[in-house]
Amino acid sequence: MDQLKTFIFDLLFPRRCVGCSSWGMVLCAHCRESFRETTRICPACERPSIDGMTHPGCRKSTGIDGLVAAVVYQDAVRAVVHAMKYKWVTMLAPIVSQEMLRRMHAHPLEKLLVSKKGVLIPIPLHKSRERARGFNQSEIIARHLGQLLALQVESDMLTRVQATPPQVARSGKERRAAMHGAFAVPHPDRCKGKTVLLVDDVWTTGSTMREAGRVLKRSGALEVIGLVFARSEGRLV
Ligand SMILES: [Zn+2]
Ligand SMILES: [Zn+2]
Repeated sequence: MDQLKTFIFDLLFPRRCVGCSSWGMVLCAHCRESFRETTRICPACERPSIDGMTHPGCRKSTGIDGLVAAVVYQDAVRAVVHAMKYKWVTMLAPIVSQEMLRRMHAHPLEKLLVSKKGVLIPIPLHKSRERARGFNQSEIIARHLGQLLALQVESDMLTRVQATPPQVARSGKERRAAMHGAFAVPHPDRCKGKTVLLVDDVWTTGSTMREAGRVLKRSGALEVIGLVFARSEGRLV
């Protein structure tokens, strides 16, 4: 029966690569091989950081402590991130989480990431947006990572209380101001003393993740490490 379903599905929706439109797979080997690893940066100042941790001089009590970004946000990666916001998420999320895991294994923060005390928290969408889209792609990625790493996923620990407008063409200061108050932690007691691995699909300016991290830290999280699939290496003004 499942085979029949797959057959009918393939007949109705023949698969094309989201990166280059070639027939066959949702992401072809060529496009997957084109993924380029990101350089490690301090999530506070975005300058290079050998181990991906926040520089000692950039540390703040409510700041993110480190960042693991898998691949550079360009070409095929950009297409994957875009396609995951639509119907291809169920097929792409397993690939994306494997790519993230592969990079994590070579990362100095690996020990911290696989320590059983960490919990995975996806960056939430506002309820109205999640309803419109039908899912939150970051949550789906977090669930795959949770299975691969045997870590718990807490998708209701952080909620989005403000629908923020798209952040295109805003200055850094304006983006920070727009994000302020976007998130809430409904039950701070559940967050106390935890190492949080914050999961998102893409890091462009970092304002979303920094604000989420700030709220989690204020609610008692011990450590917050960002985990993203793709990071934009070209700075937006
Ligand atoms: Zn391709
Ligand atoms: Zn720094």
